[in-house]
Amino acid sequence: MNGTPAGKAKPNVVDRDRACLWHPYAPASDTLPLWEVVDAQGATLTLRGHSSDTPAKAHHVLDAMSSWWSVIHGYRNPLLDAAAKRQLASFSHVMFGGLTHQPAVELAERLTAMAPSSPDRPALERVFLADSGSVSVEVALKLAVQYQSAVGRPGRQKFLALRGGYHGDTTGAMSVCDPVDGMHSAFQGLLAKNVFAPRPPAVPADAEAILQWRQAVETLAAENENELAAIIAEPILQGAGGMFAYPAECLSILREIADRHGLLLILDEIATGFGRTGEMFAAEHAGVVPDIMCVGKALTGGYLTLAAMLCTGDIARTVSKQGAGALLHGPTFMANPLACSVANASLSILDGGAWREDVARIEYGLANGLATARSLNAVKDVRTIGAVGVIELAHDVDVPAITRAAIGHGVWIRPFRNLVYTMPPYITRSAEIEQITAGMVAAVAEVHGAP
Ligand SMILES: *Cc1c(COP(=O)(O)O)cnc(C)c1O
Repeated sequence: MNGTPAGKAKPNVVDRDRACLWHPYAPASDTLPLWEVVDAQGATLTLRGHSSDTPAKAHHVLDAMSSWWSVIHGYRNPLLDAAAKRQLASFSHVMFGGLTHQPAVELAERLTAMAPSSPDRPALERVFLADSGSVSVEVALKLAVQYQSAVGRPGRQKFLALRGGYHGDTTGAMSVCDPVDGMHSAFQGLLAKNVFAPRPPAVPADAEAILQWRQAVETLAAENENELAAIIAEPILQGAGGMFAYPAECLSILREIADRHGLLLILDEIATGFGRTGEMFAAEHAGVVPDIMCVGKALTGGYLTLAAMLCTGDIARTVSKQGAGALLHGPTFMANPLACSVANASLSILDGGAWREDVARIEYGLANGLATARSLNAVKDVRTIGAVGVIELAHDVDVPAITRAAIGHGVWIRPFRNLVYTMPPYITRSAEIEQITAGMVAAVAEVHGAP
């Protein structure tokens, strides 16, 4: 394909990759197309291909995935670049045991100041900085169990989770992911047995559907009360479990049920946090304040891996009084200064407030641009919530074919199951949003049949 005789060709990056690397949710000898990224700027990635599936010319594509929800301010953002360089010039990493630093303290202060709050609930005022979203979920689960034990209920070691949920790939996190559709059936014997409530009704939902769901959750909570430490849920929008939006009222119901049965409410805002759904945190759509909250993904604007778990002062004090008095977790790269510095720069951009108009503008563009997909036979549903747009097909997507077709239209997407979706960077311009939606609709039409 490159015009070089096969025998003489130097192995390219993709061939070398295939010889020694894993990719997410993939076999080691994966043969699906793989692109090399050679540059990224703003909302645009420059890809280079190395095989007949992935032609070698430079492809400039709009990153409709924000690199899995994270790159909200775009690539090579000058403020984030500068923050990283400033921190590099002093130190990139130090251990967090017995040491502290300005970037971590500033980040914890920022997070507690911006977290969901309400006059009649305890504030989220204590922060544990973890190195990935899954780890922050592990810490949240452990904290809930330690809390229940500290208040004299050591038998409460299980969780009430929602079907359709996704909370990460580590063992504890897997145990609260959807037990059927999740990828975790292979690990049945390894995973803690938790309690699963039905998925809430989809929006728009009628009062009757919400009432039925409430009764189902209430019954499960009542029946299992003495074994349950907490309820865990993704607020308003279930992400990797199906890009599924549910009514804000259902979140308020989870808050009520948690309170009635002495359960903590853990909200996993790893995908939804930092403006993606139109509020800074998705819990704010319902005015709900959790007892424990996890954030990650967009925390550093997609520059570095970092996550955080926040909890109320009461939980922190209660756990710290009992027994060893410690929260039993401590990653090597906890509070990495480079990541914290970039996170502070990202949060300071969000403080500027432009994200709110950007997300509203993108939501409008996605709703408009994706509407035409409704007329395609293969399409079951089209929905938007904040800067997230979803085309749901009636059957599974041909992922390599759709990806290739979208690249032909200058758009990078990574569908899964029956979902072709986008959550573009907030800096994506309106004309670029049009290109993304047109590319998604055209790719679906080309691969899965015209109207
Ligand atoms: C991505 C995600 C996680 C896991 O985060 P990682 O950083 O990939 O470990 C957990 N919960 C939700 C809701 C997510 O979207």
